[in-house]
Amino acid sequence: MSRAPEPANEPILGYAPGSAERRALERELQRWRNRTEDVPLFIGGEALHTRELREIYCPHDHARLLGRHAVAGPVEVERAILAACEARQSWARSGFESRARIFLRAAELASGPYRQRLNAVTMLNQSKTPHQAEIDAACELSDFFRFNVFFAQELAAYQPKSARGEWNSLELRALDGFVYAVSPFNFTAIAGNLPTAPALMGNTVVWKPSPHAVLSAHVVLDVLLQAGLPPGVVNLVLGDAPAITQRVIAHPSFAGLHFTGSSAVLQQLWLQIAQNLPSLASYPRIVAETGGKDFIVAHASADLDALAVAIVRGAFEYQGQKCSAASRIYVARSLWKPLEERLRELVGELKVGDPADFHSFMGAVIGRDAYTRITGYQRLGDEDPSCRALVPVRAEDETGYFVWPTLFEVEDPRHRLMTEEIFGPVASLWVFDDDRYEQALELCDSTSPYALTGAVFARDRAAIALAAQELSHAAGNFYINDKPTGAVVGQQPFGGSRWSGTNDKAGAPYNLLRWTSPRTIKENFDPPRDYRYPYMSGE
Ligand code: NAD
Repeated sequence: MSRAPEPANEPILGYAPGSAERRALERELQRWRNRTEDVPLFIGGEALHTRELREIYCPHDHARLLGRHAVAGPVEVERAILAACEARQSWARSGFESRARIFLRAAELASGPYRQRLNAVTMLNQSKTPHQAEIDAACELSDFFRFNVFFAQELAAYQPKSARGEWNSLELRALDGFVYAVSPFNFTAIAGNLPTAPALMGNTVVWKPSPHAVLSAHVVLDVLLQAGLPPGVVNLVLGDAPAITQRVIAHPSFAGLHFTGSSAVLQQLWLQIAQNLPSLASYPRIVAETGGKDFIVAHASADLDALAVAIVRGAFEYQGQKCSAASRIYVARSLWKPLEERLRELVGELKVGDPADFHSFMGAVIGRDAYTRITGYQRLGDEDPSCRALVPVRAEDETGYFVWPTLFEVEDPRHRLMTEEIFGPVASLWVFDDDRYEQALELCDSTSPYALTGAVFARDRAAIALAAQELSHAAGNFYINDKPTGAVVGQQPFGGSRWSGTNDKAGAPYNLLRWTSPRTIKENFDPPRDYRYPYMSGE
């Protein structure tokens, strides 16, 4: 069998003033800002326009209409399921190598001619800065396509032993039904990975992207079609999430859910799926990455400058809307005064505004509901005398949903600000006595139901080892002297447990294995022709 090329991570472009990539991105931003895109459903290889339409907004300029998208009713959802079922056999039989070639082509398109289109729509529709769009929509998306091919090939390499006269083999079949991919708003790359990881393994998919990331889903689909994805392999539906989902997961051929989003929605879906079991043809796979309440623990030996930068980047990049964003920070008392000063200084410098203004460090939060939720947490801290704001608490929604970076020092380490997922630029710190480091670790482990990412900052090796041990189940991605965000495909396989998900590690072979239903085949070259065993013969 021939081997697919060895993957390498897509280099991140800098967008410095005067650079070619900056000019190209500015042109593309201009193009998408001045049009209203008409986004259809895409089912069985056909673009479907519907009478009902919903508007697509720009979070940092909510009066600006970026486009309108079609809305799937029951008929379109049934059509999407049917299209996925009809395409199943030929897609699965097309063979791994021919499928892999399509995704490798998609990687070249996403990192080449489509790069600035993906970045521009991610900036406009999801309010990412050029750097945040680049690491997500261009780089991580192409990394997923390239690395998944490599990992899938590695998986197929495992074969069972064969005794003399036999040949045993293991075939990685696709699942016996279609997969339903439900993606979040916050990463174009995750949205692209959810339908395509199962598709690479031979499955066909109904894909429901987030209503807040429709433009990037539209462009990702375009990349896949340009790369040669056949009709019916990925079917895109948009519209009312609960209504669409109810139909999809009740279909007898529903064989797997690939979900990334909030824990509350996953729990609801899991219960509904369980109730549907009697009418399903197989036990569906549930692969889900959900919320986080990600931590940083700073031991007294931590490097102060590295810690301060990790807090600023880890808590506030992309407005704290990364599942991995640092939002609870435990600081040793001897570090606290200089750290507080440094944080005030750095946070005071952060520019919040239109991400297309290349000076902005942060854009807007994704929409009205997010703004209301996050400012609710700002108020909670602001009005509680046991919490102290380290920087002025500020938010404005006149032109866009802007929330400024917010830091609270809390007296109670189990305050709601330290336990609940806020999913916005609000982080809280709790100061512990230097000699109570171990208790601080225990508190960190037991305070929140989530276990996605976390970091320890220390120069003392014993303190690092203790944290790694005490926090062994507190994070699926654990960082030492680094911020808890920014996992790279092929370098830090991503996912967490407890309420943070099924920990099937996106961007790793483990995830791909979940989209297969292995078949063992034994061929006997000399089968027995007598049913009697030797012990049965007479003396
Ligand atoms: P969300 O849960 O609101 O939405 C996710 C998806 O579920 C969307 O497509 C949405 O339309 C759909 N959905 C919402 N309600 C539904 C329902 N009742 N039935 C069926 N589908 C429904 O999440 P979001 O706001 O898009 O994303 C933010 C959340 O995602 C955060 O909790 C974040 O931590 C999590 N997240 C986790 C990871 C990870 O890898 N662990 C990565 C990204 C985001």
